[in-house]
Amino acid sequence: MTEACGAPHADREGVACDRAPHAMTGYHHSRAAGVFWDAAPLPDGRRAGRAGLAEMAARATRSGRTGSAADAVQAWKEEHGGG
Ligand SMILES: [Zn+2]
Repeated sequence: MTEACGAPHADREGVACDRAPHAMTGYHHSRAAGVFWDAAPLPDGRRAGRAGLAEMAARATRSGRTGSAADAVQAWKEEHGGG
């Protein structure tokens, strides 16, 4: 049997990550559903681009003052241009 990450998609019910376990960082991917979505930023900041850096800075600054889950979903939508 192959191990899988299994993280649920934030917006799509029934979709779960079927990558090999990746410490919940980088991105999730469901091969079955053919979709990718963001996981946690990589701890070493390898997530490329100004948007990624700005997002990390914003998260660090806000540090839980707003609902972190809703915040993460909003950030994802902004970054990916909505559904
Ligand atoms: Zn995953």
